Amino acid sequence: MLIDPFGRAINYLRISITDRCNLRCAYCLPETGVKWMAPEKLLTADEIIEVVRVAADLGITKVRLTGGEPLVRDDLLSIVKQISQINEITDLSLTTNAIRLGELAKPLAEAGLQRVNISLDTLQPEKYHRITRLGDFQKAWNGILAAEAAGLLPIKLNCVVVGGLNDDEIVDLATLSVEHSWHVRFIELMPVANEQDWGNGLPSSDQRYVSVQSMHQALQRLNLQNVDSSTRMGPERTFKIPGSLGTVGFISPLGDHFCSKCNRLRLTADGNLRSCLLVDKEISLRKAFENHEDLKAYIENAVKIKPKGHELSQHNCPESRCMSQIGG
Ligand code: SAM
Repeated sequence: MLIDPFGRAINYLRISITDRCNLRCAYCLPETGVKWMAPEKLLTADEIIEVVRVAADLGITKVRLTGGEPLVRDDLLSIVKQISQINEITDLSLTTNAIRLGELAKPLAEAGLQRVNISLDTLQPEKYHRITRLGDFQKAWNGILAAEAAGLLPIKLNCVVVGGLNDDEIVDLATLSVEHSWHVRFIELMPVANEQDWGNGLPSSDQRYVSVQSMHQALQRLNLQNVDSSTRMGPERTFKIPGSLGTVGFISPLGDHFCSKCNRLRLTADGNLRSCLLVDKEISLRKAFENHEDLKAYIENAVKIKPKGHELSQHNCPESRCMSQIGG
């Protein structure tokens, strides 16, 4: 079991398998784009599997693949298949924009993927294209339906709420949970290395942040019922519209201090272990791979340097990577 200096058990590894993405979401990537990592800098599938095996021996039971966009990596199915065969990993999921899920949902389920979280910030095709700068709403929507048909359940939809952009759609997005057994989760915008002007008439930084309290307020007429249990593990506070099939959740990295319950470790596509999404402290595994060293000590060291919590309220924001390079 991996226990950090603050007594938190770490059993969840999030792996960014590529920094590349087929979208350029305004809040995630700069308008000018970022320079993709050179292919030889990325961990190979074998290296990723080796990290998961060692991490599983140390007590990791839950793995999420992310990116960039994980569905653009050519050997994704082989990575999923190999991780799904590691007995200790009992929860294998993936976070995606769903653009390629129409074709990949079924093969992914067959390879052993259990479930997906899908990013969807608007139901309006024109706005979808504006936010993502490249995306086609219909492809993402078809991808969600394909994931559902392939049994990648439960489907969780992640909506980052941005003032002046999609905060007028909170009711419409939440209402998706009435007829679909989907978990619609509203997420506060995080200040991660992307505070510059977003261009293209998108809102300025002083307009963008919307607190979960304001989101909740906007949903007042839906009469949300609290379904949080005392065993709440993740960062989400969960509610239900009476009579609905799905749920509505709120994730507040800024306002709600779930750091005390954080069970996560992250692996970047270029092989750095990062113990907090919002703190720029990393341990590189490159040397370990080059010298054929045991990865165990590296993973344990990454857990040892896990900070007590982020320091956004003291204006200590991560600057070394934008969100697409960490994986969210
Ligand atoms: N490409 C995949 C996707 O779109 O879901 C996975 C990578 S993406 C970086 C992972 C998650 O991070 C997405 O749900 C995205 O909405 C979220 N995200 C990116 N930038 C964010 C920000 N500044 N604040 C909050 N969430 C953010």
